[in-house]
Amino acid sequence: MTMNKIYSWQHKLWNKLTHHADSGANALLLKGRAGIGKLDFARHFAKFRLCETPSSTSEACGTCLSCGWFEKGGHPDFYHVSPETSANFSGEAAVAVDRDESAGRIKSKKKTSQQISIVQIRALSDFVYMTGHQRGRRIILICPAEAMNAAAANALLKKLEEPPAHVLFILVAHRPQQLPATIRSRCQLINMPMPDVVQATRWLKQQGVNEPEACLAAASFAPLLALTFNDQRYAAQHDAFIEQISASRKINPIELAEKMQQSDLPIVVSWMQKWCYDLLCFCLTGKVRYHLSRMTTIRVLASSIENKALAAFLRTLLVSQQLARHPLNPRLFLEEIFIKYATLLDSNGVKRSS
Ligand SMILES: [Zn+2]
Repeated sequence: MTMNKIYSWQHKLWNKLTHHADSGANALLLKGRAGIGKLDFARHFAKFRLCETPSSTSEACGTCLSCGWFEKGGHPDFYHVSPETSANFSGEAAVAVDRDESAGRIKSKKKTSQQISIVQIRALSDFVYMTGHQRGRRIILICPAEAMNAAAANALLKKLEEPPAHVLFILVAHRPQQLPATIRSRCQLINMPMPDVVQATRWLKQQGVNEPEACLAAASFAPLLALTFNDQRYAAQHDAFIEQISASRKINPIELAEKMQQSDLPIVVSWMQKWCYDLLCFCLTGKVRYHLSRMTTIRVLASSIENKALAAFLRTLLVSQQLARHPLNPRLFLEEIFIKYATLLDSNGVKRSS
C-alpha cells in the first residue's frame, strides 16, 4: 500500500484542510472508524505541513530536505506517539499500530503495551521545547489517542491548555468518545470520510482483493480493514472463532477464553459484536450485514434467542469494547463475555423446552 498518496475518498477533505493550513488550530482530532485510512492521512498531512516547498496544488514536494527526512522515517520535527514504542520517529511500526485493530495482528505480542502512558506524554516536553529545525514548526502525532490512560490524557490536556508555539498536535481516534471531553473540546474535530460501497469495492479490486464485497461486509465497510480479511491467516482465525461461537450448545466458555486470551482483545470483542449484531438483525429484519455466508447457521441460532436478551447483551459488549484495551486479566475478561453469550443461547433452549 502506498503511503505517498491519500485515498480517493479523502480528496475533498484534503483540499479543505490544506487550503486552511494555517487556521490557527494547534490541535486536530481526526476521528472515524478503524480501517478507513486516518493514520495515513495524518502522516501525509504532517509531511505536507513540514515540507519546505509545497506545490501550488497543496502537495508535499517530495524532494526537499524535510520530505527526505520524513520519507526515511527520521524527521527531527515529527514525533509519533503510539502504544508500542515511546519514541516512534515515523517508522514502520507506527503504521502497524494503526492497523493493529484495523488490520489484523490478531496475536498481540506478549508484554506489548496497549496503552499510551504518562511517561510517553511527559517525554514530549523535551521535544516541544527543543528549537525546531525549520521555521520552528513541529508536529506531534498521537494514535490511537484513546489508548492514552487517564494520567497520560491529563498530562496531554495540560499541554493543550497552554499550547507551545509552532507545535501542531494531531490526534487520531477510532473511538473519540473514549477521550475526555476536556481534550476533545481543545481540538478542531475532523470527521474522517468513508468511501461508499461502490468506491470501496473499486479500491479493493485495485489492491488485488478477490472477493471485495464479502471482505468489505466482514470489515464493517472499512476498506483498509477489508484488506486484512483478504489475508488468509486472519480470515482463518476469524472463521475458526465464528465456528466455535456458532456451535450452539457445544460452547465451552472456559476453554474458549483460555484459547483466545493471547489474541488482540479489541478484535475479538468486535468479532463478537458483529456476530451478535447479525443475530439480532436477522431476528428483526430477516437479513444480515456482516456474515453473508453464514445465513443458515444464523437462522438456526436466531430462532432460539430472545431479542430482548440479545439486545441487552449487545449493549454489554459496548462496555466490553471500552475495557478491551486494558483488562486486568484477559482470560477472565473473555470468560465473562463467553459465559454471558453461552447463557443467552442456553436459557432459551431451556425456555423453549419448558
Ligand atoms: Zn518537500
